[in-house]
Amino acid sequence: MQLTNRINRIQISPTAAVIAEADRLKSQGVDIADFGPGEPDFPTPEHIKEAAIRAIRENKSKYTPTGGIMPLREAICAWHKRELGSNYAAKECVVSVGGKHGIFNVMSVLVQAGDEVIIPAPYWVSFPDIVKYTGATPVYVQTWPEDGFSVKAAAIEAAITPKTKILILNSPSNPSGAVVPPDEYKKILDVCRKHNVWVMGDECYSHFTYEPNKPFSIASAADSKEHVIILGSVSKTFAMTGWRIGYVLGPAELIQALIKLQSQSTSNPTSVAQYAALEAMTGSMESVPQMLAEYTKRRRRILDGLRAIPGVTCVDPGGAFYAFPNVSAYLANGAAGHAMAKDSTELAKLLLDRAHVALVGGDGFGAPGYLRLSYATSIERIEEGLRRLERFFTRVEAAA
Ligand code: PLP
Repeated sequence: MQLTNRINRIQISPTAAVIAEADRLKSQGVDIADFGPGEPDFPTPEHIKEAAIRAIRENKSKYTPTGGIMPLREAICAWHKRELGSNYAAKECVVSVGGKHGIFNVMSVLVQAGDEVIIPAPYWVSFPDIVKYTGATPVYVQTWPEDGFSVKAAAIEAAITPKTKILILNSPSNPSGAVVPPDEYKKILDVCRKHNVWVMGDECYSHFTYEPNKPFSIASAADSKEHVIILGSVSKTFAMTGWRIGYVLGPAELIQALIKLQSQSTSNPTSVAQYAALEAMTGSMESVPQMLAEYTKRRRRILDGLRAIPGVTCVDPGGAFYAFPNVSAYLANGAAGHAMAKDSTELAKLLLDRAHVALVGGDGFGAPGYLRLSYATSIERIEEGLRRLERFFTRVEAAA
């Protein structure tokens, strides 16, 4: 079949591939310790579900305005102002079909062949492919475990060229959990402003930060509007991954372009899901600190467990719900000299097949030598997964 160059430039998401394989094994009755999915294991809070049920009963099931219902656009701006200190009006907000759709649309309207987009590595798997789909070129800026994988303004400046259009800055980060401290983030904004580069802040994990980090948005910085685009989502914060509601905040002219694109593609995000998101943005947020408290316990447990495996190191994730251990000792040319696999993707496959542990290799995140484990799963399953990992790796150690 003759497919377009643009579709041939991208690959199916490696995280989706792991989840599919783990699901296949589960359907055969295999008990999988599942650290794969990047989604909360908590149900959507009751009051949000009720709002959606009410919307269905009230027949709020017609087309809505393409950019989202006005009460939701207003509520997102008010929520973002209250929680993260920004100052947007409804005309500077569009509701998208999840955060990924928002990113895809922002890239579609702002970059094309010949442009460069800076992406700190390790990165979320979808950033490079979305950029490639537009024809633009991703430019990676390496970050280091010594810095908790947090990117520095100087490194961004060194990567900027006359072709650079956007920096994608995901803090807290999937997969590393890195949080860019507010002072450094402001320096990064200054650098981008100087070179006339957009900062697109991906804030999907904004409310899952661990002490001493706090939720922060670069949109709270003075005079940020002209150079900042905010990408947010209700998926993680409110345990609403399947509802598919995200948003973009930015200059009204950009928002108009995004609405134009949605008008010729998805049309409005699902009406009922918008009413659920409206409740999320305006109702009680008590479920959010409850989830964070649970993630905090799980994070401690998984970090201790991973670090107990000989040769494995792991930085403290400052936010999100992923542990990102370095397992290069077990890969070809690894320090410990007992290669299990040629790379982390192969190691992840072995772990799934032999130890029945689902996790994602770091290769797809631009981090060979690492594995990503989502701890959005119960403490009991984390314990079970850690036992399996320890058994797997210590057997290799013994054989070496
Ligand atoms: N950004 C990051 C860094 C993510 O990890 C994800 C989901 O995994 C998203 C954006 C998109 O989430 P959604 O499309 O569910 O809003």
